[in-house]
Amino acid sequence: TSKDSGRNCCTLFRPEMTDFALEQLTVENNLRTAIERNELSLVFQPEIDLLTGQPTCCEALLRWHNPELGSVSPDRFIPTAERTGIILPIGEWALRTACREAQAWTGELAHSRVAVNVSEVQLRQANFCNLVRSILNETGLSPQRLELELTESLLVSREGEPRRIMDELRSIGVSFALDDFGTGYSSLGYLRHFPMDKLKIDRAFVRDLPAHREDASIVSALVNMARSLNLNVTAEGVETAEQLAVLRDLGCDQVQGYLLCRPVESHRLIECLQAERSPAVLALSEPAAEA
Ligand code: C2E
Ligand code: MG
Ligand code: MG
Ligand code: MG
Repeated sequence: TSKDSGRNCCTLFRPEMTDFALEQLTVENNLRTAIERNELSLVFQPEIDLLTGQPTCCEALLRWHNPELGSVSPDRFIPTAERTGIILPIGEWALRTACREAQAWTGELAHSRVAVNVSEVQLRQANFCNLVRSILNETGLSPQRLELELTESLLVSREGEPRRIMDELRSIGVSFALDDFGTGYSSLGYLRHFPMDKLKIDRAFVRDLPAHREDASIVSALVNMARSLNLNVTAEGVETAEQLAVLRDLGCDQVQGYLLCRPVESHRLIECLQAERSPAVLALSEPAAEA
């Protein structure tokens, strides 16, 4: 009957699901050997301080190039890596590589922090604190220059463990940012239970600025809330000068996005900042100067 086929056939054997499962399996199998085959790399994207125009922090973003799959975006492989636990060695590789590269930064990046995205699975590892400490020791990076980016899913559980790990790492100088803020399911009230230093407003709220007044209201509310909790605010995904001006007026501390600098390899950061950021930040000061 159709009811039976609905239960036994369609859920298991729909062709598109098989494709999806196959794709996941291919990604998974190739991901297992990605580190040893040297297929992973990091690019970095600065956050620009709106008062000084300086890069305060550069975020490390994973890139994976595989001979069979080509370039695979993190949105395609991070969920698989998290589900299978492969995120543990990959996350450790990303943390170590990011700290090592940041330690070599010079010029206007010499004091910039490096921000590393950390999955909840990683933070729940028993030895995560020790891992971070030993990577800082090994690379010589000052803990004050390391920022870890977490997502809202972590806040929902409100268990003691992540909070203890955060307290311990903060006591040695590591800071924490809440990534993609506004898109998760957590109540804003959960935020006060976690020792965050920064909120990163998701680019979903930036994309349609300045046309969508509702988005400007949301950004404004998020900035005010962050202020009252004593948190620093970065707006993500800034692509136009108009967005930049609105975000400045709404009181964001830093901006990050293609307008300021695309994610690039570590050795190209200074060159790209000089080429891309300067016109954007200079344009910003013009209307203020007229007023
Ligand atoms: P995310 O941490 O929120 O990073 C921001 C994403 O937005 C990056 O995508 C970045 O390339 C992109 N982006 C930056 N500026 C702009 C802009 O102006 N416009 C638009 N449209 N996009 C912009 P990417 O590199 O593809 O990374 C996607 C997500 O994958 C990241 O989101 C992060 O959640 C995850 N990810 C990346 N690297 C790592 C990692 O090392 N560990 C973990 N756990 N997750 C990672
Ligand atoms: Mg991030
Ligand atoms: Mg983000
Ligand atoms: Mg994001």
